Amino acid sequence: MSEVLTYRTFGEMPWTPQYVEEINKDVCLGCGRCVKLCGQECLGIESFEDDEGTERYVAKIVNKDQCIGCQACGRVCVRRAYSFKPKTA
Ligand code: SF4
Ligand code: SF4
Repeated sequence: MSEVLTYRTFGEMPWTPQYVEEINKDVCLGCGRCVKLCGQECLGIESFEDDEGTERYVAKIVNKDQCIGCQACGRVCVRRAYSFKPKTA
């Protein structure tokens, strides 16, 4: 059975990072707030054509390896598009 990895804060309190897992493109507005906020440069914007042929912009995970699991992107998103997961070993 896998174990959730827990680390420590500066004050030695238990801290379980919740890493970025998925962005729900069906609800994302492409506003870019999450992209600007992420200090780890994990996020970007991509465009695609929807079923009606309209160009749409949505957030995208571009560099998950640099995610520190702070969940700030999820807190700034008014559409609650983000989901997160802890790391397991
Ligand atoms: S903040 Fe939310 S709605 Fe805006 S681009 Fe990011 S995921 Fe999409
Ligand atoms: S959880 Fe933090 S580090 Fe990871 S993508 Fe979101 S804002 Fe960036």
